[in-house]
Amino acid sequence: MDLSVIIPVFNEAEVLPQLQARLAPVLQPCTSDYEILFVNDGSSDSTLPLLKTWGQKDKRIKIISLSRNFGKEAAVTAGLQHASGKAVVIMDADLQDPPELIREFWEKFQEGYDNVYGIRKNRAADSFLKRTSAQAFYKLYNHLADTPIPYNAGDYRLLSRRAAEALLALPERERFMKGLFSWVGYKSIGVPFAREKRAAGKTKWGFWKLWNFAISGLTASSTWPLKVSTYIGVLVCVTSVLFAIWTTCQQTIFSNEKYTFVMITLLFFSGVQLISLGIIGEYLSRIFCEVKNRPAYFIDEKINL
Ligand code: UDP
Ligand code: MG
Repeated sequence: MDLSVIIPVFNEAEVLPQLQARLAPVLQPCTSDYEILFVNDGSSDSTLPLLKTWGQKDKRIKIISLSRNFGKEAAVTAGLQHASGKAVVIMDADLQDPPELIREFWEKFQEGYDNVYGIRKNRAADSFLKRTSAQAFYKLYNHLADTPIPYNAGDYRLLSRRAAEALLALPERERFMKGLFSWVGYKSIGVPFAREKRAAGKTKWGFWKLWNFAISGLTASSTWPLKVSTYIGVLVCVTSVLFAIWTTCQQTIFSNEKYTFVMITLLFFSGVQLISLGIIGEYLSRIFCEVKNRPAYFIDEKINL
């Protein structure tokens, strides 16, 4: 098998006909030895029946149907574990990742690149809030994590077999793919493209889901937040010693005015302590998940595999 295309789908029935029309004509010129691997992530609409009829007509359409919705990261992992191509493309179903780009990915792969990723030239398709928060997230992430992720690179990419194997060798359950892609390394290159609006259907990512995604990405790739409370603690201790010396000199510590000051300081640092506890909690919950060592997903059904 030359080329595998992995597509996670969650309630994408509306967009599948358009995807079908655009995908095959792009793959054929690259190689005829390809497979399109759909991972049905617990869809409740007619996604699965549609895929099945498509799969009956074309044996190169393969389907893994998960036992429930496990999230995109788990779905992509399931796809990677079942893809057999020398090159593996990961793309969204909603045509925001234009299939035509695969040809360019394929050329770069022929030139010897292991990780060819799409870079969004414009984020016009996203709302202002999503754009700015994404920007802030990339900045923060690249400050904190060991391996930076390229700005505006999404999950849309081609991986060589060895890069895909490297990803699969990472044992963690909490899989922040963007971080993992750059962590494994290998020869990488970005290909700019204009990201389109969703062709049909609705986005599966609300604000809260994105927020949690960002937190889990940061805590999965950096231990810096754990250390920050140590430094704040040291700073506070030094300040308090200086403060103690100063008040001893002043001798009038319990006048009314000072009492207010004591209260404010007390409240502020109770807050700091709770935040530090919360950060530790974030890591603890992640350790808890990893220690449980549950499989990332369960498969309900496989078709053409
Ligand atoms: N997706 C998935 N499981 C989920 C959420 C999304 O498999 O729980 C798939 C979805 O079907 C699509 C891709 O992940 O193919 C990207 O989702 P979406 O377009 O909603 O995200 P956005 O582009 O808005 O970030
Ligand atoms: Mg999308």
